[in-house]
Formats: sequence, C-alpha cells, structure tokens
Amino acid sequence: MKCQYNDCYFCGGVVEERLLPREIRWNGKLLVFENVPMGVCGQCGEKFLRPEVAKMIDAALESSKRPSRVLQVPVYQYQSVG
Ligand SMILES: [Zn+2]
Repeated sequence: MKCQYNDCYFCGGVVEERLLPREIRWNGKLLVFENVPMGVCGQCGEKFLRPEVAKMIDAALESSKRPSRVLQVPVYQYQSVG
C-alpha cells in the first residue's frame, strides 16, 4: 500500500515512496532495516520517515525479533595524516 506524502518540506519538490534500507542505532548497536517505506524528494533527495513506520521499527526491535540475516560491518578509524 502506497502512501501519499506532502511536498518536500525543504524545497517543495514532489515526494514519492520508495523502499530503502535504513540504518538505526539501537542500544549502541548498528542495525539495518531493509525495505523500509520512505518518502524521497525527487528534487533534493531528502528522506522522510512516517511516524507510524518509525513506530513499527521500534516495536520490531523491542519484541527482539530475530534478524533475517546478520551483516558484518567494517569499521575504520579516521586518522589525520601528517
Ligand atoms: Zn526536496
């Protein structure tokens, strides 16, 4: 089910729904939710998450549902050179 979004808050562009991965920090861990319905501005690329979608994500995390798969995320330290 697709949802209507208001025009972009920032530039007034048309916002369309797309399924995108979203990174979330939860209890100090980095998680990725895939296929999250988000509004994306066709003009500036700003993303908008509906409050009910954010709530669904929180609920899924709180129910400690098992992830569909686990990724290993490489972490780099930034070191200034010189
Ligand atoms: Zn925009």
